[in-house]
Amino acid sequence: AQPPVGVSNLPNQRYKIANERGGSFTLMVCGESGLGKTTFINTLFQTTLKHQDAQQRRYTPIKKTVDIDIIRAILEEKNFSLRVNVIDTPGFGDNVNNNKAWQPLIDFIDDQHDSYMRQEQQPYRKVKFDLRVHAVLYFIKPTGHGLKPLDIETMKRLSTRANLIPVIAKSDTLTAQELQVFKSRIRQVIEAQEIRIFTPPLETGSVKDDESPDSPAMEHARQLIESMPFAVVGSENKYDNGQGTPVVARQYPWGLVEIENDSHCDFRKLRGLLLRTYLLDLILTTEELHYETYRRLRLEGGNS
Ligand code: GDP
Repeated sequence: AQPPVGVSNLPNQRYKIANERGGSFTLMVCGESGLGKTTFINTLFQTTLKHQDAQQRRYTPIKKTVDIDIIRAILEEKNFSLRVNVIDTPGFGDNVNNNKAWQPLIDFIDDQHDSYMRQEQQPYRKVKFDLRVHAVLYFIKPTGHGLKPLDIETMKRLSTRANLIPVIAKSDTLTAQELQVFKSRIRQVIEAQEIRIFTPPLETGSVKDDESPDSPAMEHARQLIESMPFAVVGSENKYDNGQGTPVVARQYPWGLVEIENDSHCDFRKLRGLLLRTYLLDLILTTEELHYETYRRLRLEGGNS
């Protein structure tokens, strides 16, 4: 059995992983065009990276059948540096016939597992290239109604391969009440369709006192779970918040939607989950669950 990952130990372990493995985190974003994926990535980098421009590059494409962009950046904090790869998948779901539109996404995830497996099988096991996807953000159109069959099918398949995190795109286009209704509808569908989304681990019965069900870490995890699917707003512009402070926001005649304001959207929660609190869980579950599943299936398939 794997030892439980103590949330309270995360900063240290995160530091260790970052150093020992050369620290790299790969995030895939997918969803129809125009849902704000590119804007979200830029917002994430803009609000996280200090020197983003020098470190951000764009590679296209690595595979001919899919439009896949890889954006690389380096996240630096004191004593800590993490390479962040963002896989953007423009063109998903844009066709009239979206039969199997998920296939290129699944292929990309599988190819990365495959490439890692091959490298591991080399005599010296020196892995040079690792783009295994640690988390997939699936952007849901803010219709307020429900999920489309394509959303359901794609999320189902993605969730068997990687840590799936559904998000409501452009959530500023819904009223607070519409958003709550939309969120609960989506949660119902996810449950009814048995789509396995990534959920912050709620470990109970742990040996550590500070991981008791009432600890701040558990309370934080519960709050995150209640917020899912995260309502996302992206922007590349800053505006004066009325108190002389420039904030990343979207401007409306009636005021600002502030990206980093928890009462306006869930951007901060999502960013914290991805790059801070559950970074290690995302990396470890990719390694121990998704990659191992892939490897086992491949090895079994190879023997038959
Ligand atoms: P992509 O095709 O998914 O990469 O979408 P883009 O990032 O190119 O965004 C498409 C359009 O939506 C642009 O005009 C953006 O300014 C706008 N947009 C992006 N994010 C948001 C958001 O959170 N809210 C609103 N209202 N518009 C957004």
